Amino acid sequence: MPIITAQNLGKTYRSGKLQVPALRNVNFSVEPGEFVAIVGPSGSGKSTLFYILGGLTAATTGSVLIDGVDFAKLSDAERTKMRRAKIGFVFQRFNLLPTLSAMGNIEIAHDIANLGAATKTTLDLSLLDHLAGLLGIQGRLDHRPNELSGGEQQRVAIARALITRPSIVLADEPTGNLDTKNSDAVLNMLRTSSRELNQTVLMITHNPEAAQVADRILTMRDGEITNIEKGSGVPVHA
Ligand code: ADP
Ligand code: ADP
Repeated sequence: MPIITAQNLGKTYRSGKLQVPALRNVNFSVEPGEFVAIVGPSGSGKSTLFYILGGLTAATTGSVLIDGVDFAKLSDAERTKMRRAKIGFVFQRFNLLPTLSAMGNIEIAHDIANLGAATKTTLDLSLLDHLAGLLGIQGRLDHRPNELSGGEQQRVAIARALITRPSIVLADEPTGNLDTKNSDAVLNMLRTSSRELNQTVLMITHNPEAAQVADRILTMRDGEITNIEKGSGVPVHA
């Protein structure tokens, strides 16, 4: 069964009398463990699609099924719970809390995910070790974001997203603020963690080379998916 199914998704933003169509008739599904890149020009609807898939924005038409469950049929509280349990977000601007260390940022993500969870868990230290090793941030965990490079901040943000073992990772331009070397490193880490932890990854990117690490590449234009092709599915070589 697909882990994500989007059926006839449409979204129109209303601001006053103005209606801005952002998504039209979007249909696709994603298999568990698949890595999908979403490319397309600015304004083509990529972020809107992410907000809807992540349960942050309601679609105007159509539906999203996550593990067969229709987001729209859940209460706000249930949707929040499901989002915290199943989805990890990575953003272009890292969005780390500036007053906390890297470790503190990772811990708080675990604590938040725990808030609504039926069974409480303690922070999985062996997973933390594994992620820190994979991401090369072992020696950086007691540093605050302003003491870390952009590449390091993004690796911490990825560790924060993965510490709760989300089945789905939504990464919105995760390499958008990074130089080529750090960008390649982050892409390869997402690629590797997707394989090792069987995590489904959806990644928005402007960069056609970055998109190639994905198993499949969806192209969006004017709110529609205009092309679907295979990616190489292998890490980039710096
Ligand atoms: P990005 O750098 O990710 O492409 P944008 O600059 O497109 O981000 O958008 C930044 C934020 O502004 C997003 O939360 C988006 O939803 C919102 N936004 C984008 N376009 C509009 C718009 N026409 N009216 C109101 N909000 C918008
Ligand atoms: P992308 O991520 O591909 O840049 P977006 O999903 O941000 O595309 O935007 C798709 C369209 O929706 C654009 O025309 C954008 O201006 C508009 N839009 C995005 N967010 C908002 C918003 N909050 N309010 C109004 N219009 C928006």
